[in-house]
Amino acid sequence: MSDIIRRDPRVEWIARNRLHPLHAAMQTAQTSWMGPNGLIRKSPHAVGFIGPNGLKRIDRSGAEQGGNQKRGITSSVVQLPLHVVEQPAFHIVVVPDMVGGRLSSHDKDLLGLANKLAGNDGAVVAVVFGEHKESAFDTAGVDRLLHLNSELFDGYAPEQRVLALSAVESQLAPRHWLLPDSRNGGGELGRRLAAKLGERPATRVWQVAEGQCSGRAGAGREDLVRRAPRLILAAVECAEPVSDTRHEVRPLELQNQIARNLPRIEDLGAVAVDPASIPMAEAEFILSGGNGVKDWALFHRAAVALGATEGASRVAVDDGFMGRDRQVGASGIWVTARVYLAVGISGAIQHLQGIGACDKVIAINLDPSCDMIKRADLSVIGDSAAILAALIERVAAYRQAGERDAA
Ligand SMILES: Cc1cc2nc3c(=O)[nH]c(=O)nc-3n(C[C@H](O)[C@H](O)[C@H](O)COP(=O)(O)OP(=O)(O)OC[C@H]3O[C@@H](n4cnc5c(N)ncnc54)[C@H](O)[C@@H]3O)c2cc1C
Repeated sequence: MSDIIRRDPRVEWIARNRLHPLHAAMQTAQTSWMGPNGLIRKSPHAVGFIGPNGLKRIDRSGAEQGGNQKRGITSSVVQLPLHVVEQPAFHIVVVPDMVGGRLSSHDKDLLGLANKLAGNDGAVVAVVFGEHKESAFDTAGVDRLLHLNSELFDGYAPEQRVLALSAVESQLAPRHWLLPDSRNGGGELGRRLAAKLGERPATRVWQVAEGQCSGRAGAGREDLVRRAPRLILAAVECAEPVSDTRHEVRPLELQNQIARNLPRIEDLGAVAVDPASIPMAEAEFILSGGNGVKDWALFHRAAVALGATEGASRVAVDDGFMGRDRQVGASGIWVTARVYLAVGISGAIQHLQGIGACDKVIAINLDPSCDMIKRADLSVIGDSAAILAALIERVAAYRQAGERDAA
């Protein structure tokens, strides 16, 4: 596995972004070198670092000027500034979807919006139902965390969740409620909460500024601009996620008992579906093939083994290897998968437009400098056929081991 080249697009983005607090730590700037006459030269431009507000700061204590080793300070360990709200003047409550127990990119956008609305005086409260695996609430912008971990909320329990949110309403009287307007639960929960609280929500909101919010309307053809109400159901990319502060994630307790609901809906659990029948726009895991796929039978076998929905680039569709309804991109379908695995796709701008909302992108490609590799969170450089075959083998071995353990 040692010949696999991995790149981290977030680190590359920080290295390009002068205003990011971690920018200086990513630089390999040469601060001193020997000049042609044998004299040591120092670059005054390489001294200092960019502070959280984008201003250049110079530390004159000497720690930056070669004193690092002496003091045991390494520039690569940079802590984001901690944002503390001791006595919040008001609360902004966010109810993230937590798909798979983690904050989705939609949830993080929402927390970015919450922080914008909270400013310096308000606190952002995240209400999380059931077990979760998230460890980065602090860098996502959560000041207070209300974790409601009870079997009451397991499975599909929107009525019970609304009762819990009503208890939050009585305790905190939040200035704003923010929920993702998504198919992963947030859209429905938000509308149920609106009915319970008697609030008229703003839906599919993509911008909140100066007390006004803009939401998509008319089947996505027009915008509805209105005064920002208390309850906002926001679309993806409604704001930039938090990237330059750390937050306390102080645990919060509910003081009131949550009323028990007599469920009118019985949850019979998840139903296994054929990934091939899932509409592309709703698929969670997509295996997408492009011009770099040479063995399409192997590609289809890999999709079955991984349980992935198949997608394709326009070239693969034009060449007749995949149906037109599988084309991802500007002139195809815009997808929102949690994992998008692109095999032999170069990453043309029209294709990248279609995967902009995907959470994690994995690329398999021969060319380490192609745009898909630059976009990817994880890249595998190599021949698509060899890697797909190895992947099928690994999945089979993993499943067999699982069955052995269960027996
Ligand atoms: C108006 C317009 C709209 C468009 N809309 C779309 C759209 O909606 N969706 C879309 O996808 N495109 C669209 N396109 C086309 C787009 O510009 C690209 O031409 C297309 O996306 C390229 O597809 P590709 O990456 O599969 O092929 P290529 O660009 O040919 O790339 C193939 C990739 O496979 C790699 N490769 C080759 N052999 C192997 C191997 N053995 N193993 C691993 N990797 C290998 C190569 O390194 C390369 O990166 C549009 C173009 C226009 C002009």
